[in-house]
Amino acid sequence: MSVRAKKHLGQHFLKDESIAENIANSLTLNGYSHVLEIGPGMGVLTKYILQKDITTHVIEIDRESVEYLQTHYLNLAPRIIEKDFLKIDLNEYFRDKQLAIIGNFPYNISTQILFKTIENRTMIPEFSGMFQKEVAQRIAEKEGSKTYGILSVLTQAFYEVEYLFTVPPSVFNPPPKVDSGVIRMIRKENYTLPVNEKFFFQVVKTAFNQRRKMLRSSLKSLNLSDKLREDTIFTMRPEQLSVDAFIKLTAKIENDGIGN
Ligand code: SAH
Repeated sequence: MSVRAKKHLGQHFLKDESIAENIANSLTLNGYSHVLEIGPGMGVLTKYILQKDITTHVIEIDRESVEYLQTHYLNLAPRIIEKDFLKIDLNEYFRDKQLAIIGNFPYNISTQILFKTIENRTMIPEFSGMFQKEVAQRIAEKEGSKTYGILSVLTQAFYEVEYLFTVPPSVFNPPPKVDSGVIRMIRKENYTLPVNEKFFFQVVKTAFNQRRKMLRSSLKSLNLSDKLREDTIFTMRPEQLSVDAFIKLTAKIENDGIGN
């Protein structure tokens, strides 16, 4: 018996074994000895991860899928977490472990999964995941492009992102309406920012809220001094700023007022 796909859980089961294997092979196995797969379903990806020299954990919200995994992957049973990934405290389950995250998970929670990963980056050195193609491209995009935005900057501040490959709807059951894309993120060696992180997030979000405007006007709400507003960086639009430029911009605004 296989699991019947449930729409409300975003279930699109991968039926192409070689794609499943390719996703599993995207793990570099560098710098961690545990991996957590989000949304294993019937384990199409899981079985290839289990072949690797690494401790595999899975988190699955669907009772029926959990029962399927328990009967088909006996060795995995103690490391199946039947929970909502978005709701668990990763520290509680994995404490001081370094943990890779992998998965073909639902599109409708994929951005939240990404943000949870960024939040927990001290314990997550690597992440490989399937997204709606456009979202995957946006995460990996560099400055100077229309699709470069909040997701790109906030992710790339902490991770090197690589767009690996595109996956067509036909390899899923049931097929989704859109193409998918797989990305891999590897945590940067130095992933602590030299500025206040919350403020950095605020600057990036505020700037992209009005992406066609010059920073001088989109960042007005941050009460910049007249002197700072003369800095040429404020004549730029957010999509022209690299991640480093955003960090420097944040530092400038943080220091605004000092010496005035
Ligand atoms: N990885 C499998 C299944 C993909 S479908 C495959 O490629 O075939 C997405 C899976 O995510 C489903 O099994 C669904 O039950 C699970 N899921 C949905 N929301 C979840 C959540 N919040 N936490 C954990 N798993 C979730």
